[in-house]
Amino acid sequence: MSGADELAAALRGGSRRALARAVTLVESTRPDHRAEAERLIEAILPATGGATRIGITGPPGAGKSTFIERFGLDGVARGHRVAVLAVDPGSKRGGGAILGDKTRMTELAKSPGAFIRPSSAGAQTGGVARRTREAILVCEAAGFDTVLVETVGAGQSETSVSEMTDMFLLILPPAAGDELQGLKRGIIELADLILVNKADGDLRDHATRSAAEYANAVHLIRPAYPEWQVAVRAVSALTGDSIDAVWEEVARFRVALEASGAWVRRRALQAEAALWAEIGDGLLQHFRTAPAVSGRLAKLEREVAAGQRSPAAAARDLLAAFVGSAETK
Ligand code: GDP
Repeated sequence: MSGADELAAALRGGSRRALARAVTLVESTRPDHRAEAERLIEAILPATGGATRIGITGPPGAGKSTFIERFGLDGVARGHRVAVLAVDPGSKRGGGAILGDKTRMTELAKSPGAFIRPSSAGAQTGGVARRTREAILVCEAAGFDTVLVETVGAGQSETSVSEMTDMFLLILPPAAGDELQGLKRGIIELADLILVNKADGDLRDHATRSAAEYANAVHLIRPAYPEWQVAVRAVSALTGDSIDAVWEEVARFRVALEASGAWVRRRALQAEAALWAEIGDGLLQHFRTAPAVSGRLAKLEREVAAGQRSPAAAARDLLAAFVGSAETK
């Protein structure tokens, strides 16, 4: 048996050490690790796909980590096994890691039914999507039925996470409905479920009103799935109020999409898109390092930047050099 096969067996046997090692392996950018990671993923593939993959986003301070801890603990109490991953492309949080500081999710981190993987800061942007996609598969092979993928705020990561998850959850603080305008419309359109958090104490009424206003605004957006009307709920991550209802919404979402076939279709499209992303990344890598290209790249980039060559002509030149003389007839 190869190392990858042994790791796959240990992973499926439920070993926490194997799980941590496997995630570290798929996160590594070392070429020998990459090859090993690919063997591992192929080996576990038949054991993957079972989890409900949930993307979670929201502005800083909305209560994402408080929610994930509460939701995770409630889930474990319901018999779920919950894994939490983080996507943090090019973190600028002063070298810190999201989910990394010890103050976050301490209880959930201790739970035997949960697994939390902090994302290290300064990770290479290019590989983030692949690493997270593969980490999801690793968690599934290890028997986790719910995988939460948290993303912090900035732009592209939401789209990227929504492309690797089944359901997208947006967590907002209590606010007036017109503040929806301030949120990127694109992010709202990705959401399958919107939670207005902090519906407790003095904020309870405010949160309930906000949820009603958001619900009105959301009804104006064309739904991504005809079988699913985006729900808006007021919850409290702090007290746990209505968190149970979130688990029920998640189950309802899955049942509705499975019944219509949308669930399987979405997974298939995602896998196909990931295939093309890998092909694109691989080609670019070969292209940049090809001897016929690498020597001329810097000069052509300068010429294009200076307006001396057109981008199209320079690209054609380099591509022709790359594929041989195919285009120089
Ligand atoms: P994140 O930046 O989105 O991960 O937000 P955090 O989970 O770190 O929470 C930000 C702040 O809001 C913290 O001070 C939390 O204690 C507080 N908070 C989170 N959830 C709730 C809630 O349900 N109710 C109240 N009142 N405060 C909350």
